[in-house]
Amino acid sequence: MTVQTTNKTLITEEYPVPPFKKQQQPMPGLASKMDPRPDHGETSYRGSGKLTGRKALITGGDSGIGRAVAIAYAREGADVAINYLPEEESDAAEVVQLIEAEGRKAVAIPGDIRSEKFCQELVKQAAEQLGGLDILVNNAGRQQFNESIRTLSTEDFDATFKTNVYAMFWITKAALEYLPAGSSIINTSSVQAYQPSAILLDYAQTKASIVAFTKALAQQLGKDKIRVNAVAPGPYWTALQVCGGQPQEKVEKFGESAPLGRPGQPAEIAPLYVTFAQVNNSFTSGQVWCSDGGTGTL
Ligand code: NAD
Ligand code: MG
Repeated sequence: MTVQTTNKTLITEEYPVPPFKKQQQPMPGLASKMDPRPDHGETSYRGSGKLTGRKALITGGDSGIGRAVAIAYAREGADVAINYLPEEESDAAEVVQLIEAEGRKAVAIPGDIRSEKFCQELVKQAAEQLGGLDILVNNAGRQQFNESIRTLSTEDFDATFKTNVYAMFWITKAALEYLPAGSSIINTSSVQAYQPSAILLDYAQTKASIVAFTKALAQQLGKDKIRVNAVAPGPYWTALQVCGGQPQEKVEKFGESAPLGRPGQPAEIAPLYVTFAQVNNSFTSGQVWCSDGGTGTL
């Protein structure tokens, strides 16, 4: 969190640095059970009406980056629908409360986006309950490390692609029925698209696919005045990483190699999603913005 003074910006809150405690949760994991708990901006994010009256659907909005985006969007004046898995109901309930505390409408739609039918239903329900849709954040993701292509099963490969690639295609396609001119689609890629880790063979491919999808779709939808962009996070302290996203020895050192010497907290990336969604950011499309603690590689 930063505070403006008359002549300088001071960092007033230092975020957690490694080493972290080893911690393993079953997939999909809960933010509430992480130690330390991630900062999603619950007490720090201040809005200024940047998204007044907007209507957003955010997948994976219960925890991590999606939750930080949901909080920021509500504080900027948007009504927000979130999707998540049924096992994540307790995290999602906290997000619903936070959105409603801003006087905004919150819509919670649990369900598994690996099903095309559910994806279509999700978009329909979100648009009907919000009374329209003009921001789509494709953010849900699956990351399970695997040391070798020899042990990576077709089931795992398929689940990663269904969650990260197919669902984005299905949800976006369904959303186009509702998105008016001026709408914004924001996808969540990763630095893994550009610098894949050996142990994230399937995941890294999906994140590269998201970049190509973003750039191609931005060209298709230009004539409809719908912008399509992506955010590429580096290491962020979220449930994804502690429920099989990384081996435990990497959880302990998570973020250590970033020039800032720590992982990002979800609250630190939400402003990129706000900026992409703003109507006055109207000439930016087909772009990927990276937030990875300073490597400068993207
Ligand atoms: P997270 O675990 O908090 O969020 C991921 C969410 O995806 C889950 O909360 C869950 O609701 C959702 N999800 C997973 N499988 C699903 C399914 N089958 N159906 C419906 N929902 C499903 O972790 P996060 O790090 O905030 O992840 C958000 C996005 O950020 C992901 O796309 C991830 O790949 C990306 N990302 C994260 C990092 C990082 O270091 N945390 C880095 C780069 C990219
Ligand atoms: Mg979650």
